[in-house]
Amino acid sequence: MACCQQIIGEPNPPEVVMEGEDKESAKRVGIIGTGNFGRALAKRLIFSGYDVIIGSRRPEYRQLSEYDECLCDVRLTTITECVRMCNVVFISVHVENFNDTFSPLGELFADKIVIDVSNRENISGKVSNSEYLMTFLPKAKIVKAFNIISAYVMENDIAGGSRKVFVAGNDVTARDVVCNIARDMGFAPVDFGGLASARRIEAFVLRLFPGWKVPIFFTFAIFNLWCLYITYIYFIDRTAYRWDQIFVKVLNKPLCMTAITLMALTYMPGCIAGFLQMVYGTKNKRFPKWMDYWLKSRKQLGIICFILVFAHVLISILLMSSTYYSSWFQSTAITIPGNLTTDLHLPMKTWMIWKGEAACLVGIIAFIFLCLLATTTLPSVGDSLNWREWRFVQSTLGYTVLFLSICHVMIMGVPGWVKNGFPKTFGSITFLCLILPVTVFIMKLILLLPCVNKYVSKIRKGWERNNHPCLPHSRCKDSKCFGDEYVALKLGGIRNECGCSEGSMSTNLRTPTCDCVV
Ligand code: NAP
Repeated sequence: MACCQQIIGEPNPPEVVMEGEDKESAKRVGIIGTGNFGRALAKRLIFSGYDVIIGSRRPEYRQLSEYDECLCDVRLTTITECVRMCNVVFISVHVENFNDTFSPLGELFADKIVIDVSNRENISGKVSNSEYLMTFLPKAKIVKAFNIISAYVMENDIAGGSRKVFVAGNDVTARDVVCNIARDMGFAPVDFGGLASARRIEAFVLRLFPGWKVPIFFTFAIFNLWCLYITYIYFIDRTAYRWDQIFVKVLNKPLCMTAITLMALTYMPGCIAGFLQMVYGTKNKRFPKWMDYWLKSRKQLGIICFILVFAHVLISILLMSSTYYSSWFQSTAITIPGNLTTDLHLPMKTWMIWKGEAACLVGIIAFIFLCLLATTTLPSVGDSLNWREWRFVQSTLGYTVLFLSICHVMIMGVPGWVKNGFPKTFGSITFLCLILPVTVFIMKLILLLPCVNKYVSKIRKGWERNNHPCLPHSRCKDSKCFGDEYVALKLGGIRNECGCSEGSMSTNLRTPTCDCVV
């Protein structure tokens, strides 16, 4: 079999085949642009059973087989011919070249399904590339798709990367055609609706770890606060450590304290949400914005917590000795009898006492559970769980980890609290770092009380305390709405809702009353 591309000359144009004319033409697609993405797309489409025709500004100068021998049978022609021959055309050209390339070809693209794969450098412009393309090709059915797949992933299926293809376009049939092509290529199409969604799809590629900024900022803030406190109590208030221990031994303390604080902050919004829903008496009232954001940041907070715990475990293993964890080990002493007035006692630490062993055991179990929890945040693992399994891991296992972490800290701290008495206990780091986790745990226990749990579950299933449908922001008392008319007036200026006759209106918009005056 000859391994070379066919260059289709202008003088002998092949027949234009319309959609649905025969089976072969239905599987024919055109690609404009012979760049990295155009070639990768062509290769993938060929392997998916499509007949690919590539349109280039200078087909006679392009040797696609030089790039990849799989492309040797691909037909290469001019852009005009490519569009004429295909009803579905991929535009694999940079947005900067849309004007030059497509402004003279508006009519040629009439009724063609045009797939725009282009990306942007930044999200400053209001209009998407696809909407911009539509200004040159107003009669085409433009569909945004495939832009979130890189040329590398398109070519190398085993390379990993997202398999989702977001599809947006105003023509429903065109969208369906593109979704089917994506499926044939082994991708998972996600319908985003109209072409206006192309803005979101293009912005998706430009996002830089969305949702991470605030959790990282809070982590730094909490870590710094704990660092300051530890510096104060261990170096200023008393000299418990030497300054040269600051890099590992001392650092380990704010690390684990930040980790347990973040763990509490991961589970706290879920509890607060339960209480708020009880106060609202409905699940249909929106949480305040900060609360919404907090709920959405739980995954990030949990992952940061896992990273900190991991660092804490590594450092603790490194330091695990009676020199660093003296209170965890049995104290003994060698007595050398002296002929002098006093004997010489050499204190020695030997085996671990119950405190060290128990703290280690609980810490190890908590860490293993936390690893399981972190694994399920990976999309590939999370996708394999059903809803109940997911809930079990994220909620039951999560609270178990929180409980075990509290126990881990308490095992270390309580003997000291007992020894030092209460005023001193309040300032100990073990006591302080447990305040938030224990609060969250108590909140969860309250929510688990049968009567409370039943009430919250009822609300989450859609039950509302005030059955009377008051307008948002109006008050309900004894099944009556106060201020409904006022709210209606404010929201939409609907005078009739207020009962005011034609030509009259309410005088006082500040009070929830309906005083109609002419
Ligand atoms: P590229 O390697 O630079 O190729 C662009 C192609 O556009 C050129 O090979 C050229 O083919 C054609 N073209 C048409 N008019 C042009 C003009 N006036 N000036 C220059 N070239 C012109 O770019 P690419 O990486 O393939 O990307 C193509 C499109 O795919 C871009 O919009 C990009 O945002 C999008 N995309 C790329 C990737 C990726 O991983 N590369 C991923 C997703 C989306 P001829 O010379 O044969 O005409």
